[in-house]
Amino acid sequence: MKDQIKGLHHVTAISGPPQENVDFFTKVMDQRLVKQTVNFDAPDTYHLYYGTQAADPGSILTFFPFVDAGPGHAGPGMASAYAYGLNPRSFDDWMRHWADRAVDFDGPSERFGSRVIILRDPDGAPVEIAEDEAAPDHPGLFHGVTLWLEDIGPTRDLLADVMGYEEIGHETLGGEERLRLKTAGDAPYVDLMRRAPDHVARQGKGTIHHVAFRASDDADQLEWRERLLAAGMQVTPVIDRQYFNAIYFRSPGGVLFEIATDPPGFAADEAPDALGQHLKLPPQYEGRRADIERILPPLKVPA
Ligand code: ZN
Repeated sequence: MKDQIKGLHHVTAISGPPQENVDFFTKVMDQRLVKQTVNFDAPDTYHLYYGTQAADPGSILTFFPFVDAGPGHAGPGMASAYAYGLNPRSFDDWMRHWADRAVDFDGPSERFGSRVIILRDPDGAPVEIAEDEAAPDHPGLFHGVTLWLEDIGPTRDLLADVMGYEEIGHETLGGEERLRLKTAGDAPYVDLMRRAPDHVARQGKGTIHHVAFRASDDADQLEWRERLLAAGMQVTPVIDRQYFNAIYFRSPGGVLFEIATDPPGFAADEAPDALGQHLKLPPQYEGRRADIERILPPLKVPA
């Protein structure tokens, strides 16, 4: 049997001011803020994590909120969207829920035979909601992620030949071609999408920074690192991200990929019932807490 990656661990995006981001994802999307910390590479910026109540891998959406970030535009070489799955029996209820609250969305349109609606976050980034028989009645677990590529081939080869994904669907709708790939079990899809760009691709607020796949533990991650090196990828050494260990590499189509370990998880430094309530800093920044708290914009989080 070939080695199959376990699916998605998290998706990380760039946003504008943090308060709008928190309000949207906790109130409109009804996600749990599971961690407030800082960007470990730039500790004057927050790193906010959202997920399900249990902070399951495969539900984690994270943001680097920059107060004065310029607007970005997705384009070829970037992940252009993530989708939450929603059970078909709850889909109409949620559409009504958002409509009643004057939350605008596009659709429903159809993708691979299932309905998809697209909400917009405060930075205009798409938040896709897709019907999914395997999904719960509440949005929170990822249904999939879309990678926008100029040429689908090299990324398909990496995902299929090295990471164990299988092609399960191909469709072209309205000038947009999608190849759908799937790994083990109910893990989220990866859609490889090709269409003519309507903007120059630019990283900025409202765009996805990287997509992280799951490793079950450190040993599994090191095996993936060896396989990726053998396939010619330039992979970073293991980096301690406090809640997981991470390795990063640029996929052939240009999208930044990460592989993150499930352990130790988000309860590593605060109690499971108190996740997200307080600013958590990794040991290397705890000594600078007073400075960091003075620089970061104040944040009101739901209790
Ligand atoms: Zn990451």
